[in-house]
Parts: sequence; C-alpha cells; structure tokens
Amino acid sequence: MKGRIKDLATILNCHPYSDSSLIIKAFCPRLGNISIIAKCWRKAQNKSPLQTLHEYELTLYEPSGGELYLLYEASLVTERLFPNPKLLSTALSGAELMANLILSSDEYAAYYQLLRDYTGYLQGLAGEPIPIFWRMLLRVMKLQGIGLDLQHCQICGRAASPGAYLKRDASLVCRECRKVPPAQTVNLSPEAKDILQNLPHIGNQLHTLQLSKQVVQELNRFLLFYYQAHTHQKIKLKSLGVLEQLYS
Ligand SMILES: [Zn+2]
Repeated sequence: MKGRIKDLATILNCHPYSDSSLIIKAFCPRLGNISIIAKCWRKAQNKSPLQTLHEYELTLYEPSGGELYLLYEASLVTERLFPNPKLLSTALSGAELMANLILSSDEYAAYYQLLRDYTGYLQGLAGEPIPIFWRMLLRVMKLQGIGLDLQHCQICGRAASPGAYLKRDASLVCRECRKVPPAQTVNLSPEAKDILQNLPHIGNQLHTLQLSKQVVQELNRFLLFYYQAHTHQKIKLKSLGVLEQLYS
C-alpha cells in the first residue's frame, strides 16, 4: 500500500464481500469515482456500515496495484435521508448518473458540488422530484459542452418552442422543420414539450405538477438519448427504471 489520503465521499453503493469485508463505490471531489475495500469492517464493533448517499470524510490507502482503495477510517459529514420512495429513487438516479460519467480529474470537484446541491435540494422537497433530475441532467450537459438548446430550432435557427426532435441526435426542431422529412423526427407530447420549456425554472411548479408514467418515460428517453448521441457514451440507470415504476 502507498500513502494515506483523505477525501470527502458520497457513497454510491456498498456490498458485503467475504465474511467480514465491504466493497464500496463512492464519488469524491478529489479522487472521482473510486472503489474501496473495507476489510473486517462488518465484524468490527466500533465501525458502523456506510450508508448509501450519505457524505463521509474517508481516510484511505491508495491502491498499490489494481484499483481498490483500502478504507482506514470514515467519519460522517452529511446525513442524507429521503422520506419516500420517489425522493430516494430520484436521489439514487442522480448519484448513479455521476458514477456513469467519464470525467477527467480537473472536473471531479465541479460535479461533486452538483451532486451535493442536488441531494440537498431533494432532501427538503415536498413536490414532484423527478424534474430536478432532468434539470441536473441539463446542467451536466452544459458542463460537458453539449448544452441542450430548449428555445431554438436546430435546423432553421429560429427562436421557437420546439415540439419535436431529430431521430439522428435528439436535437430539437420547430413545427415547420419537423415536417421535412417527417420520418426523421419524433414528436414530443404537449405535456413533455411544456415541461421541457420550463425545465430551467421548474422549481416553482413542482407542487402543482402532475406527471404520468408516459410523460416520465418520454422525457427520460429523450434526455438520455440526447446525452448519448452527443457524447457517444451509453448510459443505463437502474434507479431511473425503478423510479418510472412509481408512476402510473
Ligand atoms: Zn425550424
């Protein structure tokens, strides 16, 4: 083992390994996405299990070979509890998204802050949570330099409320442009179009928003498709599938 280091960490998941150890996946502002082994952690009486989504300060030994950091010490910094399944699944979807991104080391801190703001916002939320996930996805796109333009048609460039997107790369197009040729575009439902237009300021509307499973699936599919088409990275979020099942 090499030297000992400290970093903050949001726990993404934590699984038993052998009789007494744990394998932990975490996202950290300095180290990024890492895997950690906590040896004899489950049997030690003075060591509590690490909770998913909580934030800890970890003391770790750097890996000498392979990829696993070794956990030396963990102290709780921020407890993050989510009182209902929708809030929990929305928070997990955001954390899982972070685990899927391919980032360079100078980007970790900005994305860590994004995840921290996101989980903090969700914790106190009384309204519909999933638009906050969509809004975070827009922020991730912006940070990646592939910002989704919600206000302009990507074919004619006019300011409009685009109601369709290209099958090729999910760029939004206006009413006129979606007709030529129609086989190359997908129409958004009026509800999905409205939510998309308001997404940057959706925080004010969460109390009155009523979402059907169909609209949730439509927007998940569109936004992830846009992300994948512009980054050529495949993203599959298990928690988002669970979250969709909580709508009817
Ligand atoms: Zn147009």
